[in-house]
Amino acid sequence: MLNKNSWIPHSEDTHFSIHNLPFGIFSVGSNQKRVGIAIGEQIVDMAVVSALELFKDQPIDQQVFKEDTLNSFIALGKPITNEVRIKVQNWLMEDQSPLKEHEHILIDQSAATLHMPIHIGDYTDFYSSLEHATNVGKMFRGPENPLLPNWKHLPVGYHGRASSIVESGIPIHRPTGQVLPKEASSPEFHASSQLDFELEMAFVIGKENRLGQPVSLADAENHIFGMVLFNDWSARDIQKWEYVPLGPFLGKSFASSISPWIVTMEALDPFRVKGPVQEPQVLPYLQFQGPYNFDIGLKVSLTPPEGNDNILCTTNFKHMYWNMAQQLAHHTVNGCNLRVGDLMASGTISGPEPKNYGSMLELSWGGTKPIILDDGMERTFVENYDTITLYGLAEKPGIKVGFGETRTKILPTIYG
Ligand code: MN
Repeated sequence: MLNKNSWIPHSEDTHFSIHNLPFGIFSVGSNQKRVGIAIGEQIVDMAVVSALELFKDQPIDQQVFKEDTLNSFIALGKPITNEVRIKVQNWLMEDQSPLKEHEHILIDQSAATLHMPIHIGDYTDFYSSLEHATNVGKMFRGPENPLLPNWKHLPVGYHGRASSIVESGIPIHRPTGQVLPKEASSPEFHASSQLDFELEMAFVIGKENRLGQPVSLADAENHIFGMVLFNDWSARDIQKWEYVPLGPFLGKSFASSISPWIVTMEALDPFRVKGPVQEPQVLPYLQFQGPYNFDIGLKVSLTPPEGNDNILCTTNFKHMYWNMAQQLAHHTVNGCNLRVGDLMASGTISGPEPKNYGSMLELSWGGTKPIILDDGMERTFVENYDTITLYGLAEKPGIKVGFGETRTKILPTIYG
């Protein structure tokens, strides 16, 4: 594993090493969208590769590589999608490689446009970081009992809005809505003044379960194709007024942003770690043994207009209290059916120290502690024309598996 190397030149710092090989959807110029695999600074054009009949031994309809989302490819199932990835990995390492025989197989990423990689039918957002749930509970309900009684017994979640999930690079307009001013008894209508990011990761469902048939925890990871970075944009002032009793609604549904490359679970396998001890013990359907968490370094930067990138937080996906297998087992325990391309987000990923907090709400402690940027300007929430970028990278000696970035600029409200 450690000695793997590709004949494609790439920097040691690349997120897209030979160990990674994430899948995405790209286009060049006015050509149609198609499936690609990232390697270094380049993309392997899978539509061209399949046209060379290199997969003729497998039951793959070549059309899946020419579609404008990955859903049909993912639906082939892990035995086939893993074999495709391993074949490409071998071809990228062999001296006598069939990929060297055709000049249009490799595309510079700088010449390509990346698109939404999947059609997302349904999107669920969990709330699985103990530190984040504790911080928000302290601010919204008070410091005595920040966690609600259910929190350590089940992975709390809600059904989010799939239609407004966009890829990195698409700007977002500040939402407008109902806000209850301090000390007031009735709401006002204006642009949100507490626009926030949430640093999250999300997993893509790769195998459906039938309605009425729960997925066991032991089988859960067989239903996960891969992961992306996820920014769950949140308007805290709108959220605070609307969220009782049914949870988040318009304070969240205006937009979420994802990274364009889907990193497979197989690429992430070397980064498995044990999660936090769960006490009290969970019910049997949520019990597990072994390493179900993943060591993935995460950070967020804020770039003001004309300014520099300011790193606001650094944390790690390994801190999550509830793991993805538990989230999936819980999601389906009532018989709910998940479909290929559904997206399950982790909830804000915070950590034990203040620098690990994964939202402005926590970093500025509800707007009471301004964050000082390198140019001396202050922020408590995200301002117009600020750019927020999420980064994710799993690394150990000899292996780097990265997610690239999710970069989003905030524009003024379009309302009125
Ligand atoms: Mn969230």
